[in-house]
Amino acid sequence: MPKDFLAGAKSRYDVIVIGSGLGGLTTANILARSGYDVLLLEQHYKLGGMATWFKRPEGRIFDISLHGFPYGMVKSCRRYWSQEIADQIVQLEGVRFENPMFSLTTTYDRRDFTRLLTERFGVSQQQVDAFFDVARGMNFYDDRRETTGELFERFFPGRTDVVRLLMEPIVYANGSTLEDPAITYGIVFSNFMSKGVFTFRGGTDGLIRSMHDEMKKNGVDARINCGVDRILVEGGRVVGVSVGGRRIEASAVVSNANLNATIFRMVGEEHFPCDFVEQARAVRLNTTSTQVYMSLREGDDIDRSTGDLLFSSTARDFSTDLLLGRDITSRTFSFYYPESRPNPRNRIFIVSSTNARYEDWAGMPAEEYRLAKEDLVETTFEALEPFVPNCRDRIDFAEAATPLTFEHYTWHERGASFGTKFEGLEVSRALPERIEGLYHAGSCGIIMSGWLGTINYGVIVANDVDGLLLRRGTPKVDELSAG
Ligand SMILES: Cc1cc2nc3c(=O)[nH]c(=O)nc-3n(C[C@H](O)[C@H](O)[C@H](O)COP(=O)(O)OP(=O)(O)OC[C@H]3O[C@@H](n4cnc5c(N)ncnc54)[C@H](O)[C@@H]3O)c2cc1C
Repeated sequence: MPKDFLAGAKSRYDVIVIGSGLGGLTTANILARSGYDVLLLEQHYKLGGMATWFKRPEGRIFDISLHGFPYGMVKSCRRYWSQEIADQIVQLEGVRFENPMFSLTTTYDRRDFTRLLTERFGVSQQQVDAFFDVARGMNFYDDRRETTGELFERFFPGRTDVVRLLMEPIVYANGSTLEDPAITYGIVFSNFMSKGVFTFRGGTDGLIRSMHDEMKKNGVDARINCGVDRILVEGGRVVGVSVGGRRIEASAVVSNANLNATIFRMVGEEHFPCDFVEQARAVRLNTTSTQVYMSLREGDDIDRSTGDLLFSSTARDFSTDLLLGRDITSRTFSFYYPESRPNPRNRIFIVSSTNARYEDWAGMPAEEYRLAKEDLVETTFEALEPFVPNCRDRIDFAEAATPLTFEHYTWHERGASFGTKFEGLEVSRALPERIEGLYHAGSCGIIMSGWLGTINYGVIVANDVDGLLLRRGTPKVDELSAG
């Protein structure tokens, strides 16, 4: 008989969280810590969503989205998770750029960028300060008419090299483009510039294990292999979910799944007013990714000056289109050394990531798809060769992931790496006004994506749910046992 992953689950909870990405995990943890009865349902056999890892024989462990996040993670993890988790966050000091326009290594913070922009790129100190001040002063409620491209033109007219330095990592970090509103750039860029790029020492498996332990301590009932089919709505209110043929009731449901899937697949558009459905239909998905995971032979080492995070490109100019195309010219290499990414055999792992378009990969016949993946691995070796000489001989394992891989494992439509574009945030925030008790806490809006963005979004939504439950006079678990 197949295992019942819902064995022992109750028929009613205060809150059900659908999906265990960093946003869903954070919402579930905060609400359980506040004393509510929380059920977390994840369709995959592992928690973490895009914050995940996989293992291959002989001690190989590959991280999918642990490449870098801003310092803000320290505070968010300390407050909403634990000191132990926050203490594992360390800086990546070698952020390197290699492209036909320039070659440099930086700590990727305001001080070092100011030095580079003035001394190396010849921009005046006054102009650099003014740019940083404007970017840092941006906030969510600002005028959104100016695009990132226009912002750059305002401060650095005609300077495609400066634009490349400022933009390339952010396109990689959240899939934003020169055509997106400038605030989507300014907020994320300023977050990084405050102190640099950070990582989690111990790997994604270590992080998710610690989060799981913390959730268990706080009483979250977390279930894997439990894909939610429907969010149940009656009389304009959420009443629960349908999962594996079972109905489980709750006062609030928080979906950490893709926003579109939440509205159109799990709730159903018939429950929303027409104008809202139209607004939701207009929300664009973010772009997707390809990756190549490589492991060096046991005992092989590389000089740490190779860098931690390497933005490489062979394209003469910077263009969003080139960054997305199948004919890849730009790759971001993450180097995982055993001191920051412990693994049983002290191997060095390298992950190459590129932004991608779903349509370039979907719908291929099986053989063509297999060959395209092989080609992706081969061309990645070529691109890596200048930085890791003889890499073909030194790498004893390589595997590729495509937009279809991301779609398969996370159920994100079109494998979107960062949920939806900016306009998704308004729709996501408006859900509880349309259906009482329905919330969404997952990657959207560029700012609310990435590791830090989704954790912070999870916090915001946990507060919203707490407000609803307080208004409804929901007793907390300890109050019930005291009574
Ligand atoms: C290749 C790649 C590289 C990245 N690099 C970085 C980086 O360096 N730095 C950074 O900050 N961010 C990075 N990101 C982005 C970051 O990983 C995500 O923004 C973040 O992890 C998303 O969290 P989330 O809370 O939105 O949920 P997600 O991770 O999207 O998880 C959603 C969860 O919901 C589950 N689910 C969906 N539908 C259902 C259902 N019906 N029932 C039950 N469960 C369901 C899914 O299985 C999944 O576990 C990267 C992403 C990718 C793809």
